[in-house]
Amino acid sequence: MKDPFGRKITYLRVSVTDRCNFRCTYCMAEDMVFLPKADILSLEELDRICTAFVHRGVRKLRLSGGEPLVRRGVMSLFRSLGRHLDSGDLDELTLTTNATQLAKHAAELFDCGVRRVNVSMDTLDPKTFDALTRGGRLHQVLEGVEAAASAGLGVKINTVALRGVNETEIPDLVGWCGQNGFDLTLIETMPMGEIDADRTDYYLPLAKVREQLQSRWTLTDIPETTGGPSTYVSIGETGKKVGFITPMSHNFCESCNRVRLTCTGKLYMCLGQDDHVDLRAAVREAESDGPLMEAIDKAIAHKPKGHDFVIDPATKTPSVQRHMNVTGG
Ligand code: SAM
Ligand code: SF4
Repeated sequence: MKDPFGRKITYLRVSVTDRCNFRCTYCMAEDMVFLPKADILSLEELDRICTAFVHRGVRKLRLSGGEPLVRRGVMSLFRSLGRHLDSGDLDELTLTTNATQLAKHAAELFDCGVRRVNVSMDTLDPKTFDALTRGGRLHQVLEGVEAAASAGLGVKINTVALRGVNETEIPDLVGWCGQNGFDLTLIETMPMGEIDADRTDYYLPLAKVREQLQSRWTLTDIPETTGGPSTYVSIGETGKKVGFITPMSHNFCESCNRVRLTCTGKLYMCLGQDDHVDLRAAVREAESDGPLMEAIDKAIAHKPKGHDFVIDPATKTPSVQRHMNVTGG
């Protein structure tokens, strides 16, 4: 599949649920109202849509959420999607998780063909972790991470850089990832969905973090690109990579290779735009995949050139009204 700007679409990210056992302050409001269960795609429908994308040339699938591992029966979806790895139609099946349920599922994920996981963890301080996630226990996450590594899964840690929250801890986090053999990706906060706080208060530009890292570690730029918004450095002392995702301060859209599906079947062609196509109607319209394929093709033909994330300084409202847990990170 090629979009109107000649970009090949090979990567689908799927939010399998908008629900989560955490309420990270930058992601959700404390009293989040979740989508009605009746609106959520069944696991079979999710499989059908993912499979249609694989048949259209998608080579990488990432399940996300909300927290993907709290969705009941989600392992059966991993199991069935694993068949596309076996057939050679898919290169990678992976997930982004808060790792609270990873100790339970790591071995089975490996068995389904998953080889790498992204784990979101913003701090190594139990108190900060509790406050940031509104009640999360850090030790549960660390156990999950350990179980993943023991099961043979590669682990990448995702950390949102937050001014005044984990700002001073990031150099230590680089050290901790190095000791454990994990790559690390640092993320700037994105203005997605109303939360209880003002995001501009803890927006921390990664250029500043990079400067801070340079005083402790030896950073060398590496020219790697995944078609995503990251730029990478290698850390001389640990040999591991650190990625910087800077959606607010840089434009990375020229090489975008991905689209995103919500758990209600809305396909967003860009994380930073509200345009979407309803694949649930298409999947429910017929038992054959004709209408679904047609809807996918129409969607790709409308992929926008790029995002325009801003936090409106006058109203302080986010530029994208839906929360990250709806679209999947
Ligand atoms: N629950 C899983 C987790 O936390 O890994 C998967 C979903 S979560 C929405 C995916 C990623 O989005 C996480 O790494 C999280 O830190 C990030 N995220 C959530 N809200 C964000 C925001 N407003 N700006 C930047 N990153 C955000
Ligand atoms: Fe849940 Fe992930 Fe959002 Fe945190 S970032 S509230 S773990 S979906």
